[in-house]
Formats: sequence, structure tokens, C-alpha cells
Amino acid sequence: MAILDENWQSDALDPALGFLAQTLAVRGGYHRTDEGEHGEAIFTTSSYVYACAKDAADHFNGTKKGNVYSRHTNPTVRAFERRLALMEGGERCVATASGMGAILTMCLAYLSAGDHLLCAKQLFGSSVALFDTYFKAFGVQISYVDCFDNDAWTNAIQPNTKILYCESPSNPLAQIADLSFLAKLAHKNGALLIVDNCFATPAMQKPLELGADVVIHSASKYIDGQGRVLGGALVGSDVLMEKAFTVVRTGGISLSPFNAWLLLKGLETLTLRMKAHCENANQVAQFLSDHPKVQRVHFSGLSTHPSHELAKRQHTYLDVAGGAFGAIIGFEVADKDSAWQVIDSTRMISITNNLGDAKSTITHPASTTHFRMTPEQRADAGVNDGLIRLSVGLENAKDIIDDLKRGLDGL
Ligand SMILES: *Cc1c(COP(=O)(O)O)cnc(C)c1O
Repeated sequence: MAILDENWQSDALDPALGFLAQTLAVRGGYHRTDEGEHGEAIFTTSSYVYACAKDAADHFNGTKKGNVYSRHTNPTVRAFERRLALMEGGERCVATASGMGAILTMCLAYLSAGDHLLCAKQLFGSSVALFDTYFKAFGVQISYVDCFDNDAWTNAIQPNTKILYCESPSNPLAQIADLSFLAKLAHKNGALLIVDNCFATPAMQKPLELGADVVIHSASKYIDGQGRVLGGALVGSDVLMEKAFTVVRTGGISLSPFNAWLLLKGLETLTLRMKAHCENANQVAQFLSDHPKVQRVHFSGLSTHPSHELAKRQHTYLDVAGGAFGAIIGFEVADKDSAWQVIDSTRMISITNNLGDAKSTITHPASTTHFRMTPEQRADAGVNDGLIRLSVGLENAKDIIDDLKRGLDGL
């Protein structure tokens, strides 16, 4: 059953007028109701009524399009989906209850027993846990390669490879995958390229334009941008999204209308926030790379970063002084004690594992997000005991730098 109610399209912006992304982020996707509201309405309803018994039957047998139940479709959720689809340049978006919900949906929609999932090593920890714990048990083969190593990707392709999956920039070392290369490699082998665009967001990078088939989001990060709610999404072609939609509505991985509303409002300011995040991050990365107690800075904005030029070619959508490289910085001090001392000397930055918030956050990956890995796995992922991950927020850059300087100067 198709989901789009034609009425929803009539009031949307006329694409023939060629509105730019920043305008679409503010005005795209929402259809005003007969009440004439200026702000977007939250439809808190689980079900919908029909005019008569035949009307109900027609909604179920597919002769009539429209809402049936909010596990399937909800007008507020749809407005978020349409706005994000416009921003990513995809035909359609399917929202999910969280970022992990989107990744679960990807697996259920596009993989079966006997298929091979080829992933970057540099992935969000729960994604690895989901693949290794559950999908291996369902007979999916999984292997991992360094996201920046094109030869490793090429050599790891198998006849049964169905998905190439990566994040770029990656967490916590800001490694960059060559998305155009991976798209060609995937398509030559009949596979899909799926990209988790959580750290870049469509404000900075549009993987679909670089050839990816599906974009995944944890909307809980920059799309919300204020650490309030969980949400996720997939964006891609109508055909691929119909498969994802069927999984979400059947499996109940649906986004709540209230969360959808917050995320819809989050999209309105995404471009402005990402620009400010990136500008702050450029300043903080420069400070860190100049500090004598910092041994290494992982940030693709530094000209010494091996993927600096590639990052510049892929992050083309945001006009930032010094370039747009995101706002997650990994930096290394001597050892674990030094890292903890830097973290504990902060007076403003929040010690938390979340990221993509207006508030700057700081984490010691080896003892938190990557704690469950073996020391060998951590070494392989480049997570050593002296590594600190910083998500640069929207406070004044000088205050962020001063908060880090206190601990670093004391080492
Ligand atoms: C947080 C995160 C996820 C998972 O998203 P949730 O909304 O927390 O479920 C997936 N990918 C990346 C890159 C993330 O940072």
C-alpha cells in the first residue's frame, strides 16, 4: 500500500521554483491544515477515522491512500520525513525511533541469510554489536575493513556482498571514506552503498549525490542538536524506501509524532548550527595541535590529516572559514591518567558520551564507549588510553579552549 496522501503534496513548495537547501530546511515538507496554523502541528493520534465502512475497506485494500495507524504513517512524522528527504536530495525518507532503529531497518530490509555485509571498522559501537551479535546469528556474513583503505574494500568484496556500509567522518578519529569510489565499487558488484551521515549531516555532505544508495541518520545528534530526543531515518529511492517502510510499520520501529516535531524544528536551524559547530571546531583543533602536551589531533580539517583533501571534496555544502570538517575532534595525551586529568579539569564542558549537542561534550573512549572491546580491538580501532573525544558545541570558542587549556597546562 502506498503511503503518500496526495493532499499533502498540494501545499508543499513548488519544486519548479528551485528553492535552495536552506530554504527547504525551513519551509519544506509541511502541509498546513485547515486551521491555518503557522507553526507545524503535532498530531498525537494512534489511529484515524474513515467516512464509512467502504472508505475503511478502501484504505486497507490500497484503492485509497491515507493514514491508517501511526505505526504506519503520521502527519507530523511525514513532515519530518519530507523535509529531511528534500535536504538529502532523496526521493523519500522513512523515519525511525532512533538511529539504531534505522540501522536495524537497513539490515532487515536489505539482507537475508547467506548475504555478506561489508563494513568499515570505524563504526558506532552499537552498530557493530547489532551486526555481530544478531545478524551473524541469522546467517549474515560480516567483515570489516578500514574505511579509508580503498584496496581493502575492493579485496573484501565477495559474490554475495549486498551492502557496503560506512560512516564518514568516523567516530572518534575523524577518518574519511571515499564515497564516490565506494559507490562505484558497490554498483559494479551489484551491492548497495549505505552511508551513516550522522557526523556530517546534509548541511555539509550529501552522500546520495556522491553515489550512495541510502543515507542513514541518528537524528538524536545534530538534527535534534540539543540532546532532547532520540530519532533516526533512512533516505533513498522510492523503491528502497518502500522496503524500509514495510519493515518499520510491521516491526513497530516508528518515530513518535512529538519527537518528529522536535526534529522537524531542528532541521530548520541545522545549517546555521553546523556552520557554527564547524567554525568553533576549526579554532579548537588549531589550539590543540599547537599545545605541547597534545601528542596528536585527529581532525580532517588539519592539513596534516591524511584525508584532508578528500574531506574538502566531500564536504561541499557549508561555507565555513577554513573549511567544513564537522565538530568531532579526537586528541591524544600521554596516557590514561593524563586524559582523565584533562577531562576532570573542565568546568563547563559536559563529561558525557553524547555528541552533536549545542553543549560541548568530552569523553574518554577507552574507558567508556569502547570499554567492552578487547585491548587488541581498541588498538586496531586506533583508540589508545590517551585518546580524548571532544564534540565541539556552540559555546564561545574561547571558553571551550580555556576549559581544555586548564587541564592541559597542568600536565
Ligand atoms: C549515535 C549514533 C548512532 C545510533 O543512534 P541512536 O539514535 O543513539 O540510536 C548511529 N550512528 C552514529 C554515527 C551515531 O553517532
